[in-house]
Amino acid sequence: MVALGALGSVLGSHSVARDDAQRSRQTAATTAVQVSSTFQTAIQHLQDLSASAGAFFIGNEHATEAQFATWVRDVRAFERYPEIQSITEVSLVPLSQLSAFQARAVANPSLYQAGSDPHVLVPPGNRPFYCLLSYDVGRRGIVQARLPAGFDICKTYLGPDLLTTRDTGEAVYTPESLAGVSALAVGAPIYRAGTNPTSIADRRASLIGWTGTQILPGAVLSMSLEGHSGTSVAMHYQSGTTDVTFQAGQRPKGAALTTVDLHNGWHVRVYTAAIPNGVFGYSNSLAILLGGIIVSLLLALLTYVLGTSRSSAVQLVHQRTDQLQHQALHDSLTGLPNRALILDRIGQMLARGRRQHTPVAALFLDLDNFKDINDTLGHRAGDQLLIEVGNRLGGAIRDSDTVGRLGGDEFVVLAEGVSLDAGVQVVADRILDVLATPFDLAGSDVPLMVTASIGIAEGDRATPEALLQDADIAMYQAKAAGKQRAVRFLPSMQEAVDRSRRLEVDLSSALEIGQFFLMYQPTIDLQTGDFSGVEALLRWRHPERGVVQPNDFIPALESSGLIIPVGAWVLAEACEQGATWHRRGFVFAVSVNISLKQLERDQIVEDVRVALSRSGLEPGSLILELTETALMHDSVGTVARLLSLKSLGVRIAIDDFGTGYSSLAYLRQFPIDILKIDRTFVSGIADSNESAALVHTLVQLGKVLGLETIAEGVETDDQRSRLEVERVDTGQGFLFARPLEVDDIDLLLGESPIRPGWAGPAHPTQMG
Ligand code: C2E
Ligand code: MG
Ligand code: MG
Repeated sequence: MVALGALGSVLGSHSVARDDAQRSRQTAATTAVQVSSTFQTAIQHLQDLSASAGAFFIGNEHATEAQFATWVRDVRAFERYPEIQSITEVSLVPLSQLSAFQARAVANPSLYQAGSDPHVLVPPGNRPFYCLLSYDVGRRGIVQARLPAGFDICKTYLGPDLLTTRDTGEAVYTPESLAGVSALAVGAPIYRAGTNPTSIADRRASLIGWTGTQILPGAVLSMSLEGHSGTSVAMHYQSGTTDVTFQAGQRPKGAALTTVDLHNGWHVRVYTAAIPNGVFGYSNSLAILLGGIIVSLLLALLTYVLGTSRSSAVQLVHQRTDQLQHQALHDSLTGLPNRALILDRIGQMLARGRRQHTPVAALFLDLDNFKDINDTLGHRAGDQLLIEVGNRLGGAIRDSDTVGRLGGDEFVVLAEGVSLDAGVQVVADRILDVLATPFDLAGSDVPLMVTASIGIAEGDRATPEALLQDADIAMYQAKAAGKQRAVRFLPSMQEAVDRSRRLEVDLSSALEIGQFFLMYQPTIDLQTGDFSGVEALLRWRHPERGVVQPNDFIPALESSGLIIPVGAWVLAEACEQGATWHRRGFVFAVSVNISLKQLERDQIVEDVRVALSRSGLEPGSLILELTETALMHDSVGTVARLLSLKSLGVRIAIDDFGTGYSSLAYLRQFPIDILKIDRTFVSGIADSNESAALVHTLVQLGKVLGLETIAEGVETDDQRSRLEVERVDTGQGFLFARPLEVDDIDLLLGESPIRPGWAGPAHPTQMG
């Protein structure tokens, strides 16, 4: 671009320079013509004036200088011809007339000849004629050369020229340096008849004198140079032996010369400003050259800047595109491949497996109870755990294998080829192993035990999605089988999934068509063995599958939101049943499980109030069971709602206590009445010191906080006696009674032997 721009500038400036040079030459020529014409005009003026003056002489041959001066004033000669300095009359005085001439000169002395005697001839001697100055009228202010009155001019160097003009009849131009003043004089012959006689003899016979007009060449030259600055002019005269040059003006360096021939031996030489060659001689062309180069440099610079900023923009776009592509294919939290990339990798893996006949497997991993960790320790800790799990999974596999995160707490491991040489179970075990080390998380005082359930799908599939889906199904089986294990996909599992899908569809109409019912599991006062209350447990009577357990459908109710109306129905139904028992004289507490979803909404307060008021159940007989995680979820709103519920007069129990991650001290902010110790601790109390110690601690804490304690899942006498030693208030479990239908409870109530202190049906019944 710079080269092209420079080339263009050079060509352009050359063309401009050519034009400029042409114009300069024209200007120089014009100037020369103008200057020389001024000069010619000046000469013309001299001739004109000579002719006029000649005419005056012819008419006034013996006029005095004063008369001539008057004539000069009258014709305004000096005004009309500013270059003319003086007008001189030289008379040709034959020897015969010398005395008369001298007498007239004495009578009318000329200012010009002041102080000199006309009788004294210079040079002296008798000659046929004398060329004597009659008078000289000069421009005022101009110092005239003073000559003696008898000065014979024809005997000076001017003589030959004067005599030549006599014979030719033409004026003579001559440089004059009389008395040291450099002047140009025109000498024109004056013939008596006024006209120029045709022959030399006639001319000689009729010549009476000459008119000399003088100009100072400097004046003419400077006049001629007016308006032509930077120009110099020289007048050159060459004739015979005379060779003279007048010059004016400063000759420019390397000036261009134009010569004009004025004939009669005169040349005018006009020196105009040098006509430069090339672009550097002209400001225009130079400006174009430099401007062009500068502009092309600037343009190139601009282009460069735009280009580089464009290329950096392109680079940025590439970078951003790469980033976006990476973001699109990777999980933002862990940086692991996301579902889209995992599916792509599965596709590649399946293709390789087909080509190379190598084994392929997808391991679908879901953390157990991750939701609880998130709810209790907060999302930061949850995120930290997910990142750490991702890292550990990455460390547990071969480089050629892939770990990805599908979202939430779901991870996928893809293994193939040699990774599966020892069998996929080995890979799964390694994963379960690396997770076995407790995690140190922010917000948790103690290292956290985290387990996972893994579903494995092996071998070819029609689509990547199919392999992933089978692994997912197997993972659910692992959860159902008790978590913290790996389960391989079997085609039969698909049927189970299909069944559960159908179940979900059926669930939507279950409430409407009355398929739900409640069973009641009694609770026992461990100190007295008395029947202290019942827990209402939801059941779903499915037309094909029979009675469905809550663990199989409550998650679906929660995720679909159906738990809200179903939960309200449970409350109403349980309160109604409790009130019925009360009316029949059996006064005991009725516990109702409240899901997290219900506790999240203020509607729970209204549902409870309505259930109580409609049934007429005494509020103090209603216990609401909430899990630790439900309480921790939105603690501020939860406390407010619990206080509203408490103000209705009901009691609050924490269900499955110990399985969550909150400390008991933290739970103090909630208005809690009862702790229900989870059955996992109860089941271990007889054989595990750890469980025994934990139950002991929980019970002690409960007592410090003034809470009633209930032990869940009491199945053996051993457990029961241990709990009695720990002074646990209440027991619940298969040892006392399984969840029972209303009829069975009725039967139980009616059949129970009345213990001492049993005051009829209005009192709790002993179960132990
Ligand atoms: P949960 O509230 O902890 O209820 C006690 C569960 O332990 C019941 O299971 C009961 O059958 C079982 N169980 C009682 N004693 C023993 C024992 O000695 N050994 C063993 N192995 N299990 C025992 P169920 O009825 O299957 O209920 C499971 C869970 O479903 C309940 O656990 C509760 O969280 C939930 N649930 C039940 N009904 C409702 C309901 O109406 N609403 C809500 N939101 N959740 C409910
Ligand atoms: Mg419960
Ligand atoms: Mg429980």
